[in-house]
Amino acid sequence: MAASWDRRLQRAEELAQRWPFAAEPLRFYARVVRFQANLQGALRCSVPILASGEEGFALRSASPRDHRLLLRAKFADFLELVGEVAPPQLASAAEALRSTPEELWEALWDAYWRGQALPDLEVEGPVLAFFPKAFLQPYAALLAAGLRGDGETEPLSGPGVETSPVCPLCGAAPQVSVLREEGHGAARSLLCSRCETEWRYKRVRCVACGEEESRQLVCLQATEWPHVRVSACQVCRRYIKEVDLTRDGLAVPVVDEIAAIPLDLAAGEEGYEKVEPNLIGL
Ligand SMILES: [Zn+2]
Ligand SMILES: [Zn+2]
Repeated sequence: MAASWDRRLQRAEELAQRWPFAAEPLRFYARVVRFQANLQGALRCSVPILASGEEGFALRSASPRDHRLLLRAKFADFLELVGEVAPPQLASAAEALRSTPEELWEALWDAYWRGQALPDLEVEGPVLAFFPKAFLQPYAALLAAGLRGDGETEPLSGPGVETSPVCPLCGAAPQVSVLREEGHGAARSLLCSRCETEWRYKRVRCVACGEEESRQLVCLQATEWPHVRVSACQVCRRYIKEVDLTRDGLAVPVVDEIAAIPLDLAAGEEGYEKVEPNLIGL
């Protein structure tokens, strides 16, 4: 279900022109997406297809360490790119990581892959988290696509799926909530921040704590963004952004989520914390 790399690039360019305040972050994001597309192309030949139909956190039966030689070389390229095109804080973190021993790169990938605390690499936590996440997304997405069976057209569903706050395939938090037309209404799904799997999720339910009392669930919206909103919970004070494809069928959830920067600022002002920062650190 994930949009193709080309579609993401095209949408990032469209939105950068439409919303000048988001142009710089979107152009950085586009550089990352180009890298991700190339990396996935290089991995495609060497990553085995995991048996489809496996249940649980099967994605973790593979490990980035299995492809360390290829990934080390690519990670070096990635750090060089980020050093050149990222905002200053991220760029200097990339420089610092370039002089970190390669074994520690693997420890960083591994910790991210297993959802554990990241190793102490003298780079501030939220900044450090960007590197394994952006770098391993194409790898995780490739494994997950094999696991789901390529060409899937429906979000994952099944027992327990609609109430799962984490990806049923890999256990990571959702990046964005998506509404798609279904019947006479809209169906909701969540898009995984690591492997891009989309799974069906209850329409009225907090994505962090599972609260279903509708008066505790609030939406923040701005007139410029009729198809994107903040979906927040007053019980746990967490939020996610939701992209409504019934209002804008051309939206690419992961890209529109990034572009709607003012909504993150508004949510932050209200004291809400995002369930999962996106690739531009919001
Ligand atoms: Zn996942
Ligand atoms: Zn909650």
